[in-house]
Amino acid sequence: MAAVAEVLSTVASRPDPRGCDLPTCPVCADSMVAAEASAYLQDSIISYLWTCDTCGYGFVTKHSVKRFACN
Ligand SMILES: [Zn+2]
Repeated sequence: MAAVAEVLSTVASRPDPRGCDLPTCPVCADSMVAAEASAYLQDSIISYLWTCDTCGYGFVTKHSVKRFACN
């Protein structure tokens, strides 16, 4: 059974025009394709559960979801 570590994402301020912010495995650096699960922790914070297909490592990322402001 793989241990699940908690990783606090700090990439929220990095602009990405495609909105595609897939993490890589901290153990084998393989690219994550799709999150196993997602959950809203608070109103603007969402967490994703990732499991590496290559080494089986599981980890959680947290992301702040900023609402789009029209000004
Ligand atoms: Zn891995």
